[in-house]
Amino acid sequence: MATRGLIGRMTRDGFEAVYHHWDSYPSGLGATLYQLYHGYFQQNLPVMLRVLIDEHRAGWSNITGTDFSKVPGFSEEEDRPGCYCHGDRDEPARVLITMQGDTLGAQYAYALDESRHTMHVFAWQATGEVWEEMAVVDLDGPEPEWERLDERGVSP
Ligand SMILES: [Zn+2]
Repeated sequence: MATRGLIGRMTRDGFEAVYHHWDSYPSGLGATLYQLYHGYFQQNLPVMLRVLIDEHRAGWSNITGTDFSKVPGFSEEEDRPGCYCHGDRDEPARVLITMQGDTLGAQYAYALDESRHTMHVFAWQATGEVWEEMAVVDLDGPEPEWERLDERGVSP
């Protein structure tokens, strides 16, 4: 089953984000974002946010376990970053998802702060219908224990 999430940037009012469909729990999408920052994007957060948010505004099927040296696009290739706007899909850009708006069924949100080099990890608490901040990850610090964040995760 899909674990839906959001990839966003911090704003004054919370975040603005695109959708991400598969494996969006912390040890999936959270770890992937941290590792992309240190790997493919070489700690260049402006470029990373431009690629992950601005250039693929229809959102993502999956980026976990993919290879960003391949051109993103929806395809059968499992290690190609899969978006909904390129490759075999050409869906139009969507309005960015805000912290106050419709979540599209997302359970987790990862919002990157370009000036502070942090990643805010939010879990959707369905009972209170609020985003709860689980962690603020220092992107330049040691890698968090993602599985522990998975356990704290989403309330039943
Ligand atoms: Zn795309």
